Formats: sequence, C-alpha cells, structure tokens
Amino acid sequence: MKSDQRLFNFSSGPATLPEPVLREAQRDLFMLPGVGMSVMEISHRSKAFDGILEDAEATLRDVAGIPDSHAVLFLQGGASLQFSMLPMNLLPPGQSADYVITGVWGQKAIAEAQKAGTVRVAGTTEPDGFRRVPRQDELQLDPAAAYVHVTTNNTIYGTQWPTMPLTGDVPLVVDASSDIFSAPMDVARFGVIYAGAQKNLGPSGVTLVVIRKDLLSRSSKALPTMLNYAVQAANGSRYNTPNTFGIYILGLVARWMQGEGGLEAIGRRNVRKAGTLYAEIDRTGFYRGHADRDARSLMNITFRLRDEALDEAFATDATREGLDGLKGHRSAGGLRASMYNAFPEAGVETLVQFMREFERTHG
Ligand SMILES: *Cc1c(COP(=O)(O)O)cnc(C)c1O
Repeated sequence: MKSDQRLFNFSSGPATLPEPVLREAQRDLFMLPGVGMSVMEISHRSKAFDGILEDAEATLRDVAGIPDSHAVLFLQGGASLQFSMLPMNLLPPGQSADYVITGVWGQKAIAEAQKAGTVRVAGTTEPDGFRRVPRQDELQLDPAAAYVHVTTNNTIYGTQWPTMPLTGDVPLVVDASSDIFSAPMDVARFGVIYAGAQKNLGPSGVTLVVIRKDLLSRSSKALPTMLNYAVQAANGSRYNTPNTFGIYILGLVARWMQGEGGLEAIGRRNVRKAGTLYAEIDRTGFYRGHADRDARSLMNITFRLRDEALDEAFATDATREGLDGLKGHRSAGGLRASMYNAFPEAGVETLVQFMREFERTHG
C-alpha cells in the first residue's frame, strides 16, 4: 500500500464519505464562493448559513421524501443523547413505552429510557445471540404505549429488519443510525427517525432527527431547554450554535445522493455490494456469517473464519492490503465489513479477492 493512497475504509463509523464531497469541502474550505470566509468562520445566524441550512434540509427532504408533516432537526450529542431525549419528550408520566431489543444499541436505548419513565420490553432476540430480529407475531405490543422503539439496523451484530413491524396507531420511533437513507424509506410511517450522521450522512457531531410535527406537542416546558424537541423545532435547530460545519457537509452528502440517482439507485447498489460479500462468505465454508440469512444487514456484514484463531491474522493482513477497519466490535468479536452508501463497489471486489487469496494460503 502506498502511503499517499486512500484506503478502503470498512469502519463502522465515522465512516467513508463520498470522494466528491471531500474534494468540494477541501476546495471551498478556505473560502466559500461568494462568502469570502470559511464555512467554519461564519455566523450561524448569517445569510450565508441560513442558505446552507435551508439547502441541506431541502435537499434531504427531496432525496429522502420527507413530507411536510415531519420536522427536520439537526442536533448534537449523537444518537446516544437521543436515547435520553426521546423518552424525556415523548413519554408522559403515567404511560409506558415499548422497546424491541435486537442488540447493544437497543439495550443502551432502553437503559436510558428507564431513567426517564416506564418502559416495557416488547420483544428481544437476545436469547438467540442477536442473530436475527423478531417476527411480527413474536412482538407483544401494548396498544396504549406512548411509542414503540426499534433499532432498524444492528451495527454490531450485523442484522437489519427486512421490513418494519406494524405498530397500529402507536408511533414507531427508530434509531436508524446505521442504515438511514440506505434505501427508499416511507418516512410518513414513522413518528421519529433519528441517526448520528457519522455512518450514512456526514461527519460526527450532527444528529438528524425527523419527527412528526404533532408529536412536538408532547414536549413539556419543564424540560431542559436544549433537550426540548419543540424548542429546537421552533428555533430551526438554532436555539444555540449548531454544528455548522457538520450541517454543511450533510448538505453536500444529500446533494451527492441526488446525483447518484436518489435512494432507489443507492439502495440497488447497496444490495449489490452486500450480495457480493455474502456470496463469498457462503461459497466454501471457510468463512461463516453471523446473522441469520433473513436478517442479514446490507450495511454491516459480520463474519468469522471457520477457524476463529485466524480472525486476527485476517484483519491484520487485510489492513496491510489497504482494507482497513475489518475487526469486529469488541462486544461481538470476529470480523465486520461496514459498507454504507458512500463505500465504493471497488472496495468490495478488492475484499473478495483478498478473501480468496487468504483462503488459498490458509485453507
Ligand atoms: C453508532 C450507533 C449509535 C451511537 O451513535 P453516537 O452518535 O455515537 O451516539 C447508536 N445507535 C446505532 C444503531 C448506531 O449504529
């Protein structure tokens, strides 16, 4: 590997950004055209930044089909702060919220919600080692719940809901940090969609929250101001200074998504990329996938070698070949290839070549 060459970055997040976005940001970093200052130096209340934020929101609404019924918020604190902010806003005293647990992030989400109010586990696949997600008939949903919380894609275990569960009139709230806008999404169906930007949307430090506007009326005035969705919405995500640079990059990524043909085209490419890798994992038995086939994630592909003692050597050798970040999460072990929207198809092909060579020399 040459030291001046970009690696294929399989990291789970922060993750690969589209090259044209990096190039444009680099070109304009010193001075935004027509502005005479860097995006990092302008006031978050300036005309120039008004334009950047409005453009980011409008482009995102266009490419992802976010309807007027939903507000778009650019917050901070990552998806992890949403674990607290959600129940603080949407879970009134005397009601309870349903959580479906399909991995570590769902466990963390419910642990925070417990501090804010009453919660129920409406389903879990922990007894199955989080290799799958529940079937609809396994869920025990409370028709009076304040909301149902689901993790759409389990970044660590490499599972993904093939379709969202039906929750009737109860708002469906999802942590979509690791698969947001990786395929067309019927946004109108959701009460809340939230995601840390650093996997599929931009740099870390911005959290996207898409929330059905009628739910904003649940936010109590007693909440800390910064943690109040209604205040954030009324102030256009600028109650205080937002992550201006992050919002700028997110806008560029949204424009890149449009240019790639939108979520339909991006979704097809994601199916192709993951399909290529799963086919190699399944080819001979030398590799073994972690997730059950019908719950396999298109974003985070988790696998091991049949001889687990070789996992480490695989990751080390791969890094030497310019394939970076393949070591699995510390709580799941094994290997993980994260391939979000911006991850190039050439990277998957290179990984498959490497896997064949590794099998030839170690099989
Ligand atoms: C990465 C991730 C998180 C944590 O995100 P932060 O922005 O670091 O707080 C939460 N949920 C899921 C599903 C994730 O993939």
